[in-house]
Amino acid sequence: MPVVDLHTHSICSDGALSPADLVTRAHAAGVEVLALTDHDSVVGVPEASATASSLGMQLLPGLELSTLWKGFSVHVVGLGLDIHHPGLVAGLARQADARGERARAIAARLDKAKRPGAYEAALALAGGEPNRISRTHFAQWLVQTGAVSSMQGAFDKYLGNGKPGDVPMPWVDLTTAVGLIRNAGGTAVLAHPGRYPLTRTKLRTLIGLFKEAGGEAMEVATATEKPDVVRYLGQLTTQFDLEASQGSDFHGPHIPWIQLGRFPSLPAECRPVWRRWISGEDAV
Ligand code: AMP
Ligand code: MN
Ligand code: MN
Ligand code: MN
Repeated sequence: MPVVDLHTHSICSDGALSPADLVTRAHAAGVEVLALTDHDSVVGVPEASATASSLGMQLLPGLELSTLWKGFSVHVVGLGLDIHHPGLVAGLARQADARGERARAIAARLDKAKRPGAYEAALALAGGEPNRISRTHFAQWLVQTGAVSSMQGAFDKYLGNGKPGDVPMPWVDLTTAVGLIRNAGGTAVLAHPGRYPLTRTKLRTLIGLFKEAGGEAMEVATATEKPDVVRYLGQLTTQFDLEASQGSDFHGPHIPWIQLGRFPSLPAECRPVWRRWISGEDAV
């Protein structure tokens, strides 16, 4: 079975590597099929595709859309889409504007929480691109300045649900996100369902709505998921008749416990979503 990693980030969102460096590193790690899935952006796809071609590996154009569901952020990965589709381009422009506005609002909240200078710092960490500023960049700055000792601490104290820097977002809703992806010829994948602060009942409600909206797959195997959760998510794909996806959610070498192409195997009962693009053992 080919080594397939369908969830990764570059500097075009909150990752640490350029798209070219990400693809080169994935190739060196033995990945044969890679999807670049930056948050709300497909800007890095052409560079990633060019590098993948030169290395003889397969690159799937992708993204990870931020959506709002019951007041918190649910992520939907889109795979194999046409990055020039007009509806998608327009939708991403709205998401980018929302991200830029939110960054200013988060900085204002942090200022009130006696952490001034957050906007300029986060902007610099986002490569000077206001529409790429992520909570990750604010978290990095909070760690650098010693306000907290870890990224997790930054989310626990300042950026997570209900904390001072938690700003409600005008992200697209779940149904719109799935529509944007499918209209652009892509496949919609519910990202890391095990990571949301939901009871099992609420998770089933979310998956049901995602399926109703036209969602086709959900992530089952991701780098940080425990074996019992992977098994449970595998069972849910069968119950909801969804295909299964897998990916590292790699953000960069600075997070050493998450590596490209490294995550648990899909349970045997799962139908891998990547069969849509590659047919089997000898396809790559
Ligand atoms: P945003 O898209 O700006 O809302 O930022 C969300 C990103 O923050 C996610 O994609 C993760 O990369 C990162 N993130 C979320 N929660 C945590 C956490 N507890 N620790 C470290 N990074 C996190
Ligand atoms: Mn991220
Ligand atoms: Mn995510
Ligand atoms: Mn991600």
